[in-house]
Amino acid sequence: AEPEATVLRADDVAVHFGGVKAVDGVSITLTAGRIFGVLGPNGSGKSTLLAALTRLVPLTRGRLEFQGKPYDTVRPHTIAARGVARTFQTVRILPGRTVFDNVALGAESAGRPGSIGRAGKAERGRVRQRVRTAIERTGLSGKERHRPDELSYGYQRRVEIARAIASEPTLLLLDEPTAGMNRQERDDITGLLDDLRGEGLTQLLIEHDVQMMVEACDHLFAMNFGELIADGEPESVVRHPAVQEAYLGT
Ligand code: ADP
Ligand code: MG
Repeated sequence: AEPEATVLRADDVAVHFGGVKAVDGVSITLTAGRIFGVLGPNGSGKSTLLAALTRLVPLTRGRLEFQGKPYDTVRPHTIAARGVARTFQTVRILPGRTVFDNVALGAESAGRPGSIGRAGKAERGRVRQRVRTAIERTGLSGKERHRPDELSYGYQRRVEIARAIASEPTLLLLDEPTAGMNRQERDDITGLLDDLRGEGLTQLLIEHDVQMMVEACDHLFAMNFGELIADGEPESVVRHPAVQEAYLGT
């Protein structure tokens, strides 16, 4: 079989906040077109790992490579322009702007940052098309002119996901994208992530629901106290004694 293309490699990554070893020596490899999941109890370092991968926190040590190129010293907006998009655990959208405008921020950040004001008509048309597609795929059709604060929390999360996919990324990082959603909404989102995988999009997903993660992911990483305690096929990671003890409390 063909070796799978490596999209991202993190080697011995650590992020310490003073004495707090939020992430401490994590090495992971993400291969193309798969959904990877990160499981772990609260405070185990999942969000900090995502912040490290998107260069939003300084690394205490370690190396990062995206598509074979080191990027541990690159700035967050450069990472985004290279094709890494993310959503945040706490929704970060602009409350005063419409759903359409919020999603457009993602589509615009994809190409040449800062150039949209001078972009030609054809480029503006492409951006609008990407925005419309992202809005449709996240179930936001009809809400384009709403402001986020007029929407439920679940819908605000959809706006974040739409903004991320509007950039047509190579890698999508999702920090608890279905938090605050009901069962149907969660199924809609996991269905969307599955469709995106079918199109070849590599994803790294953080969620708490173990059953959902086993169903949604091709591969799981389990963290505790900033370290990886298991890494592999979902069913076997969930059955791992260290994971049972740390995460499931059994
Ligand atoms: P998780 O997402 O798994 O719940 P986090 O990555 O948010 O965990 O947090 C890991 C640890 O790092 C926690 O102890 C948390 O309090 C600490 N931490 C996270 N961000 C910061 C920060 N900016 N400054 C100081 N400590 C932080
Ligand atoms: Mg978190």
